Amino acid sequence: MSNFADFYRRSIEDRDAFWAEQARLVEWQTPPQTICNYDKPPFAKWFAGGTTNLCHNAVDRHLKERADQPALIWVSTETEQEKIYTYRDLHAEVQRMAAALKALGVGKGDRVLIYMPMIPEACFAMLACVRIGALHSVVFGGFASGSLATRIDDAEPTVIVSADAGSRGGKPVPYKHLLDEAIVLAKHKPKAVLLVDRGLAPMNLVEGRDQIWGQLRQQYLDAQIPCEWVDATHPSYTLYTSGTTGKPKGVQRDTGGYLVALAASMKYIYGCQPGDTFFCASDVGWVVGHSYIIYAPLIGGSSTIMYEGTPIRPDGGIWWRLVEKYKVSVMFTAPTAIRVLKKQDPAYLSQYDLSSLRTLFLAGEPLDEPTAQWISGGLKGKPVIDNYWQTETGWPILTICNGVERQPSKFGSPGKAVYGYNVKLLDDQTGAELTGANQKGVVAIEGPLPPGCLQTVWRDDARFLNTYWSSVPNRMVYSTFDWGIRDEEGYYFILGRTDDVINVAGHRLGTREIEEAISGHPNIAEVAVVGVADSLKGQVAMAFAVLKDASVLGDEQALLKLEGEVMKVVDNSLGAVARPARVRFVNQLPKTRSGKLLRRAMQAVSEGRDPGDLTTMEDPAALQAIKDMFQN
Ligand code: ATP
Ligand code: MG
Repeated sequence: MSNFADFYRRSIEDRDAFWAEQARLVEWQTPPQTICNYDKPPFAKWFAGGTTNLCHNAVDRHLKERADQPALIWVSTETEQEKIYTYRDLHAEVQRMAAALKALGVGKGDRVLIYMPMIPEACFAMLACVRIGALHSVVFGGFASGSLATRIDDAEPTVIVSADAGSRGGKPVPYKHLLDEAIVLAKHKPKAVLLVDRGLAPMNLVEGRDQIWGQLRQQYLDAQIPCEWVDATHPSYTLYTSGTTGKPKGVQRDTGGYLVALAASMKYIYGCQPGDTFFCASDVGWVVGHSYIIYAPLIGGSSTIMYEGTPIRPDGGIWWRLVEKYKVSVMFTAPTAIRVLKKQDPAYLSQYDLSSLRTLFLAGEPLDEPTAQWISGGLKGKPVIDNYWQTETGWPILTICNGVERQPSKFGSPGKAVYGYNVKLLDDQTGAELTGANQKGVVAIEGPLPPGCLQTVWRDDARFLNTYWSSVPNRMVYSTFDWGIRDEEGYYFILGRTDDVINVAGHRLGTREIEEAISGHPNIAEVAVVGVADSLKGQVAMAFAVLKDASVLGDEQALLKLEGEVMKVVDNSLGAVARPARVRFVNQLPKTRSGKLLRRAMQAVSEGRDPGDLTTMEDPAALQAIKDMFQN
């Protein structure tokens, strides 16, 4: 084991040598000619001249040693199905799908839009695309037709792969009519639509356009479709950000850089060995699903669990039961899911044999201390490791790299800058670097971004430059648009998004800090704080909280008392200046479908403004309830 500080320093100061070494973790058809070409900043070309294929590294490469090992373990608690595909099975299925896509007219560089529930065919389709050099663009299943249409027009897919329906809480969620509507709305028309018929919902087929996968599959049972060797810089996919702060951005990823970054992350971050089982409870529609349900575990020769269902159906023990059954070594989910589990009977955690589990990783949103403490306790001290990253980066920016050197976690901190990321804290007004401990600045990354990060915004280099590289004055750096501080030991703390800062009578306060304080109150399950315009103070903080015990929701007296208590908690930890003007109690908070708080929408309706683009919102009723509060 080496020393993390040296490892990190080498990744920055001796960049090419460091990454040339990591490139050996994967298989190349032709080895890279250069490591990092940064002739045209901020556009980085990683491993140019090298040819490889993501699908080869995720599937074919393992046939020699692990053909009979489970590759994909599919579990659906929605339809009560479980199915195991070995690497050999996966190889066959992917080739069948690749043959079908080719027959439908998909070639190298073409796009395939995947609008699917969490079923194995989604995985086959993704791998089939990269196998033949086509780009996939996975759109989260169940998005409404409007959002789907915008994405169809942006990606201009040759083929769309979809299904009759998803399922949620045991009830089918039909997709096909949404897809049909979207294709009508979109200017671009796909040549064909390939549909998986799960038998969950009726489908009206469009003649000459719609194809049923089950039938095509029969025609290609013995298909042999070789991997298309592509340059490392050949794009592998596009994927949209969650849209928490506004219009989603189409992130474009390369092939070789992504491959190397993911392979290295399995070793240095996730500590996952070939043959281990990796359980990432996310959705293939999100970046975490791309990287850690599909690509990284398979590239690493692990078995990956793809899970369709909620964490609490049939009961709150289901995930732990899967850990026991499949001897999961590494688990990965979002704090949101843990907060859901926290409301369940804690006995579930001790009912199952969790001895195979080494580490739980959490990512996607701030991990508040009570949630971290609860799950840490429940897992009897197994490491719970926070990851901070973005759709744009594809893999963690900040975390603890236990595969390099074991280091302690600190509650509230996702950890240190990960190798390859030259992370800086910058003054947002001057662009000056903040080098001292505990100074608050914008979390920025000095170019070149490491392998695996976005190459550009799909078909929009100008947006890539203007959005990401031009926001800090006087320098060209990548902005994460998050605030952070770094302590004397190099641990970062994320304080919220740069547009989540409120200004109360001249004091700049991070909404995240106020939320942290409020979640210290024993009856608060979840809280969101936004700044609301105020004629006297400029802005005031407004808190929306979900109670652990919701039985008091109708009781005005009890709620007033609680509101007073919450304010006191804030006074005590941050001072009266941070005290919210009001604390409103709600049943649920408005979130994106990936579980992120939609603060901008809460802020807009609190100020009586139009909340704007809400296509990625989970449940509109949550926002409506807040709207109603402000209209009364
Ligand atoms: P958009 O960019 O379209 O507004 P988004 O930023 O929500 O959407 P993602 O790329 O899914 O889309 O989310 C990345 C953001 O999530 C980060 O910039 C950060 O604000 C937040 N985040 C992710 N992981 C963590 C974490 N471990 N701790 C705190 N915040 C996190
Ligand atoms: Mg973002």
